[in-house]
Formats: sequence, structure tokens, C-alpha cells
Amino acid sequence: MGLLLKNGRLLNLKTGELEARELRIEGEIIAEVAERIDAAGHEVIDLNGNVILPGFLDMHVHLREPGFAAKETIETGTAAAARGGFTTVACMPNTRPVIDSPELIRYVYETTAKEGSCTVLPYGAITKGELGEELTDIAALKAAGALGITDDGVGVQSSSLMREAMRVAAALDLPVVIHSEDEDLAKDGCMNEGVVSKRLGLPGIPGLAESAMIARDILLAEDTGAHLHVCHISDAASVELVRWAKSRGLKVTTEVTPHHLLLTEEIIDRTDGRDANMKVNPPLRSEKDRLACLQGLLDGTIDMVATDHAPHTEEEKQRPFATAPFGFIGLEIAFPLLYTELVQQGTLPLHELVQKFTVNPANVFKIDRGSLEAGKVADLTVVDLEEEREIAAAELKTKGRNTPFLGKKVKGWSVLTINQGRITYQNH
Ligand SMILES: [Zn+2]
Repeated sequence: MGLLLKNGRLLNLKTGELEARELRIEGEIIAEVAERIDAAGHEVIDLNGNVILPGFLDMHVHLREPGFAAKETIETGTAAAARGGFTTVACMPNTRPVIDSPELIRYVYETTAKEGSCTVLPYGAITKGELGEELTDIAALKAAGALGITDDGVGVQSSSLMREAMRVAAALDLPVVIHSEDEDLAKDGCMNEGVVSKRLGLPGIPGLAESAMIARDILLAEDTGAHLHVCHISDAASVELVRWAKSRGLKVTTEVTPHHLLLTEEIIDRTDGRDANMKVNPPLRSEKDRLACLQGLLDGTIDMVATDHAPHTEEEKQRPFATAPFGFIGLEIAFPLLYTELVQQGTLPLHELVQKFTVNPANVFKIDRGSLEAGKVADLTVVDLEEEREIAAAELKTKGRNTPFLGKKVKGWSVLTINQGRITYQNH
């Protein structure tokens, strides 16, 4: 007996048209997509005219496991992913211990198989313990199933070590995923360096701490032939550098978060720097930077949206701004936020936004996902584009509550998510 999705509209990702289609799933696979499918012998779900999209991919999440179960676990983080329409997430290795060995890569796969609500692809660390001193066994990480290598959270300060990592990764055809931050420039900053940080008397992180490191790594990527993927781009000069790298034909790709597309340091100013739920790294920057990120997303310089979902406990986020940890949650609200703020406002069409959640990350990371044709793995989400609902703390599946978007009313919520043929989220 298969699963038959009736009364749905399938979004054509090339033309943007919504086409009335029925979709039949057998096991893990999409068996049939047609205007009409005989329901006899199948379990039927009525989609009430809602829109069927390929399941989303998020190439940047912190599931916090192993080591930080108070913040999040693979179980809660992937439940949040499913509620947000995601069927594949790539998780960062800055856990405790750091995911820097084949055993820990396997641990993530095994735990996901038992407790997960979506496909999880772990990154392995570039350096042992993310200490920036000694390379991991990158070939062994790849053999165990690492999607790429990254020292997200800190970055690799040593240029010679990064060059060597890129040489190894290039030979293995493994992406090098960079948290770009020059620690000597960033120092102990806690927000964007600029007029707001000066007014509030808080130490600033200059945009230069990001862009200077991206410039270095683009040149190292050209030198080594590595695929460089720049995480959470946030600064106007950074976007310009990636545009330049692409124009030279280099294998350089990047992602942007919803918060860097929608918010600026202004919200920290408005609350006088008293609310660490507005503290994130890279920091919310100026309006000029925000517009540069938006332009980069529109013109294709920025390939995809990624959430940088980074849950923390409420106790941690109640600390003073300067000492609270960086990070926002994002999995459950990324698509509704950008649908509401970009598609409904006419900034970009629905199918282009969906590409940045689906085919684009799939293509960049060579993952066979992002399309809804017969014969493909049944990873999909069904979204209601009409009903407006508030982002409510009580409804979140993640353990984190750390987002400046609580209370905001948005549309575009997922009502059903299916991962490998299995229902992972359903809102009755
Ligand atoms: Zn990062």
C-alpha cells in the first residue's frame, strides 16, 4: 500500500507555475506524479490545495550533540527541522567532543537513524578539537561519511594550515566550509563595529574580520583548486569578494541566513544592548550590508539560504550582552520568514526562493535531492501559503528560544513533511 497525496499543487521550480498534481509514494521513493492517480488500495492524505515543495536542505545547523544536550539534541533539532520543512540538514562539528574522528561521524549517523526526523549529514572538523593546530585525518573523515570539513565557530587562523587542509580536501573532492573570522581583528567583540556599538559602549567586530579572511581563503582556494564554501556571509565587502571569485571561475559558493537578510544592528540599538537574544556571530550588521546580502541572493552570488540554527539555553541568553553566547535558532521559521518578507513583498518570486532552499544546496554539495520526479527519494514538504500565524515559543520543537523573531506573524508554514517516504511532521 502506497501513500497518495491528493489535492496538492506542485510548484514548478523552473517556471514558477503551480500545477495540480497527485503524488504517490511507495516505500522511500516517489512512485508516480500525475494529474490523477487511482486512490484504490492507497492511504490518502488530502492536501486541501496546499503547495508541494521538495524537502528543504539546510547546510548549516548546530544540533549540539554530542555534549550539549541542554541546548539541543539530534532528536529535538531534527524534529525542529521537520517542522520547518527540512528533510536534510548538515550539522556542525563544534560539539563536545568535537566531531574530528570517523567514530564521531558514525555516531551522528547512528544516533540519527535511531532518533532523527530528517537526514543528517555531518561535517568533520578541519583541525583536531577545532584548536587550529593539527589537521584531522581528512581522508578518514570522508570515508566515514563526512560531507565536508569545517572549523565552524572559530575558523582556522593559520594560513599555512588552511592551505594544507585545502590541498588535501581538493584531492579528495571534499568541500572546505569556512567560518571566516580573523580573531585578531574580531578580538572580544560582541556586535557589529559601528555607530551602534560605539553608542552602547560594546566592543565591536569589524566587517573586515570576515571579509579579510574570505579574501585569504579565496586566494588559497585558487592556489589549491579546493571547493570553498563560505558560511553565513554578512558583510558587503564579503559579497563583493565572492562575486569576484565567481567571475574568475573559481569553485567558491556561499550561504546567507534569514537574519542577515532581514535584520540589522538597529534592533540592538532599540533595546539598548540589553537583550542577548539579538546576539549572533557574524553579528547583525548595517543596512548597507543587509542590502548587499539581499542583492547577492537575488543575482546568484549567494547560492543558498542556511539557518545557522544555534540553540542555547534561556539561562545562557539571559546573561549580559557582552558575555552571553552567540547564536539564533532558525530551522522552524526560516522559510515562513523569507516567504513573508521577500516573496509576499515582491522582492523575489516563490520558485526562486524555493530554489535557494532545495536545488541550489543540493547541487553545490552534490546531494541527490531537491526535485520531485518519479524515481527520486520522497523528501518533500507541503506548505500553507495563506494562514498567518505567530512565531510562538510554546510551539517550537527546538529546545532553544533564542530568536529575535518571537511574536512575529508570518505565513508559509509547513503542514506536512515527508523524509524518505516517512511522515516526520504533520500539523492537524
Ligand atoms: Zn560559523
